[in-house]
Amino acid sequence: MTMKTNEHAQYTHLTVELVPTAEDAAMLQKTWDAHKRACNRFSQKFYNESLKGKNKYKTWKTAYASASWLAKGKKGGLHAVYGHSIVDIIKKAYKRNEQKGKLELILFGDYGEKNTKSSAIHFCWESAFQVDFTTKKCRLDLADGRRTIAFSIPSKLPEPPTSWKIIRAYLKLVYGSWYLTLTFPNPTAEMKAEQDTNVVGVDRGELNIATTFSPAKGAHSYKSIDYPRPCKGSTNDNYHKSLFARDVHVASEVVENEPPYTIFILEDLYFEKPIEGWSYRHFEDVLIYLAALRHQGVFYCAPYNTSITCPVCGHVEKANRLHDENRFICQNCGYGADEIVDDDENAARNIYNRGKEALEKELSNKVGA
Ligand SMILES: [Zn+2]
Repeated sequence: MTMKTNEHAQYTHLTVELVPTAEDAAMLQKTWDAHKRACNRFSQKFYNESLKGKNKYKTWKTAYASASWLAKGKKGGLHAVYGHSIVDIIKKAYKRNEQKGKLELILFGDYGEKNTKSSAIHFCWESAFQVDFTTKKCRLDLADGRRTIAFSIPSKLPEPPTSWKIIRAYLKLVYGSWYLTLTFPNPTAEMKAEQDTNVVGVDRGELNIATTFSPAKGAHSYKSIDYPRPCKGSTNDNYHKSLFARDVHVASEVVENEPPYTIFILEDLYFEKPIEGWSYRHFEDVLIYLAALRHQGVFYCAPYNTSITCPVCGHVEKANRLHDENRFICQNCGYGADEIVDDDENAARNIYNRGKEALEKELSNKVGA
């Protein structure tokens, strides 16, 4: 995993939902199953090699040759181009394994399935996918050949400008629905802070989907209860869709509440598993996308201890945050003891401070150069 701390968001993503015919769906499923099977077989090979101590699949060429064969193979049924996707997925998965300091066999399953990783199919080559926003159709290189499938853009999300170029696509199956996440280079990635740039810290959470902080406007919470909530009894598919719709709602309001050329600061978070009902990553994707359309940028700061750091004296302690009361009280200087300081607002302020500091450093480097 690469940390993005003190970096501008380089890419922006838009997830569209496929509207497959029954025949399309059958082919998507066949491709998905074949890809999953090939991932699991290559994972076993990669794991066995790692056990030996010297893993020949760490060389790209060897890995690609093997994965392509597994994809194509006798039973593989996929185009060799899928080897790229498989190697991408396995390398990333085992890198995280390494960072945790223990080697475990990684198995791939479907979204929400226990003890497995769910992974999107990576379309890395332009020849493997084409997306047309005029006709709302995409052409994907699937198991039995190329297929043109209709898609829809989630409501409230504008279409990307025609000048934006899609560089990758990721196919996902989530509770029976097919999604295609499109990746574009972020046009505001090069936007640097100036002296008078409006900088806004954004904390993400469960109770408050987002809490923003800037010196000009202070703190503002986008409370989960203020948005249409997923009904408890609904299917996983509907529940998941309503969470995504809520992310779009909140992210739209966050960007619309700030002028163009604002820089939003987000924590550089990484989660091993999707957290149920807590779609951090999707909110981030939508925020970056909507911000980019408004000439606003996103900058990442280090995520450590933002919720337990005292913005007054800098003291870091777990006990500073009173989870049950959603309150912050510094155990060292007593900040928050007399007047109530909301814990999420405090985190947003810390995120702002960290981002602002890093941006100022960037600015002084630029001035010095
Ligand atoms: Zn303090």
